[in-house]
Amino acid sequence: MEKTEKREVLLKGIPIMPGICIGQAQVLNPSIKTPVTRKISESQVAIEEKRFLKAIEKLKKELQEIRGDLDERLSDLINSQIMILEDPHFREGVSQRIKQRMESAESAVYRILNDISRELGEKGSGYMQERSQELLQLARELITTMQRERNHETTFRKDSILFAEDLSIQDTIKAVKSGVRAIALTGGGKTSHHAIILRNFGIPAVFGMRADLNEIEDGTTVILDGAKGIVIINPKKATLERYQAERARYEEFTKELFEHKEERPITVDGREFTVLINIDFPEELGILKGLGRHGIGLFRTEILYFTGKVDLESQRKIYEKIAEEIYPCPFVIRAFDLGGDKVFQFKEKNPFLGVRGIRVLLRNKKLFSEQIKAVILANKKGNIKFMIPMVSVVEEVLETKELLHQVFGEMKDSEPGVQLPDFGIMIETPSSALIADRIAPHVDFFSIGTNDLTQYTLAVDRRNPEMSYLFDHLHPSVLKLIKDIVEVSHKHNVWVGVCGELAADPYGVPFLVGMEVDELSVPPASLLETKELIRKISVEELEELVRKGLEAQTAREVRELAADYLREHYPEVTLFYPF
Ligand code: PEP
Ligand code: MG
Repeated sequence: MEKTEKREVLLKGIPIMPGICIGQAQVLNPSIKTPVTRKISESQVAIEEKRFLKAIEKLKKELQEIRGDLDERLSDLINSQIMILEDPHFREGVSQRIKQRMESAESAVYRILNDISRELGEKGSGYMQERSQELLQLARELITTMQRERNHETTFRKDSILFAEDLSIQDTIKAVKSGVRAIALTGGGKTSHHAIILRNFGIPAVFGMRADLNEIEDGTTVILDGAKGIVIINPKKATLERYQAERARYEEFTKELFEHKEERPITVDGREFTVLINIDFPEELGILKGLGRHGIGLFRTEILYFTGKVDLESQRKIYEKIAEEIYPCPFVIRAFDLGGDKVFQFKEKNPFLGVRGIRVLLRNKKLFSEQIKAVILANKKGNIKFMIPMVSVVEEVLETKELLHQVFGEMKDSEPGVQLPDFGIMIETPSSALIADRIAPHVDFFSIGTNDLTQYTLAVDRRNPEMSYLFDHLHPSVLKLIKDIVEVSHKHNVWVGVCGELAADPYGVPFLVGMEVDELSVPPASLLETKELIRKISVEELEELVRKGLEAQTAREVRELAADYLREHYPEVTLFYPF
């Protein structure tokens, strides 16, 4: 696709958050895969030179850090890269190109290193060929470093449809707060944490889009259909009209949901289910106001850690304010789930299988005790529940429980009126699901985290777009684990909820209701729809669907079973959520 050409192009990706958005693209600097020369103006020369020097220092520092852990042969390799970065001829060459040819720092670096690499390559020997490849690799790393910095400094344009390769969690929040209307990424998976943030804020999104961003012109008109996972560049008039009509239909659908917002989620056969909300930021309480009074089934507290609000007083204030605002509804606070993609202090080869969640907390008792204290202090009205993430063995539950009681014991005389919160765990590893009967006697509740439970059961990275064809929380293996957990919970009188994205998947809700989970906790944008869906179905009828789902061969078969059922009971939802 040529930039200058204005023909309609359809791009496909993974549906992340439904909603149709028509607007202008803002394209964040894609990494340069081909040598594009970007020209600059006189006034930018000094800025580009500074960017180049800053990137050199940053990359040098990163390389020096990596060198620390390596054996002699590999550290020699790193040393040779550092030598190039320090080479005065290289620096001078880039600087001259920026000044004399008015090229951006990225273009100048690429040209200089590419020229040297070609010369080496032409000398022909295997050794020289290898060196030539290393130089090109170094050029790519320098360019990526400069682009990352530039993206970091980017101001997101209000009302734009943002295109990027990937976004950090911080940039996702920044984009949402700047008023970006929709997001299309070439990276990202169905339940990666930035996807969850976008769903919480109701921002239509498509991830894992198969496209080269170098070919999408900034400012061009685009359509993003978050339910179908489609992006259309330069739509024709007829396409625009079709999507405008579809958008109007979707708006009508959501308007009707708002009209029923006060109605309780009671099934056709009279069973009431609790539907709560997941939040990632205290500010989301604002969104909740428009949805009526609801409890919170999952507060991901990591944001407090990343914004430096970990001291006792900051945490207490935040928890107490939320607990009071939603009282008498429940408020489930999840202990910091650090590690995994929410990088903590360790550099690990496989962080999702490493020091994550409760494993981090039990190694950092000061941090953990402070959070527990803040939770207990905030629990003045008694509606707070506290749970821990990533449990895989009983010992973690026992150790946490002991700490919880110890902290409470130390406080209760000096802080009259404080109450011990209900204590629960997230079930999100296959091991905790399989030994739920051994954990149940020690807890008040379970909350099933289907995002991680799916990731760990199917051994698929939840962030990897290449794996999205395998990542389905409706796979019979995951369903089977959920069914077993629910049975154990009922037997032990332990309340059980689902707070992973499955609870908000219209094809998943009939199974969860049919299995009689006690509670579903969903992103704010899915709340009204989930409640409406529950009002259309009946537990008795679902027994058969659950049985068939558990016997199904594939996730697709499970989805088809749910689709057949929904077409009969709530056809609109199958229109807006195709699969
Ligand atoms: C889950 O794993 O399903 C969950 C709710 O936790 P998170 O998405 O924060 O890992
Ligand atoms: Mg999880």
